[in-house]
Amino acid sequence: MADNDDPSTKVEVKAGLCNLCRFQRIVSNTRGSAFSLCERSKIDPRFRKYPPIPVGRCAGFEPRG
Ligand code: SF4
Repeated sequence: MADNDDPSTKVEVKAGLCNLCRFQRIVSNTRGSAFSLCERSKIDPRFRKYPPIPVGRCAGFEPRG
């Protein structure tokens, strides 16, 4: 998986269902905090860029891989 090349994905974020979703991207800031970003928000306005976590259910969920 290409995401494994991104060091930011090594940071753990307890994001619930998003952690299993192919639309999740982990972003981190210079202070070491990490956030779960929903890439689906770029193509569908129903989804928030940074959903409140942990996410338990989501209509846009699609499993990774
Ligand atoms: S589509 Fe839903 S489950 Fe997937 S990353 Fe976005 S908010 Fe999380």
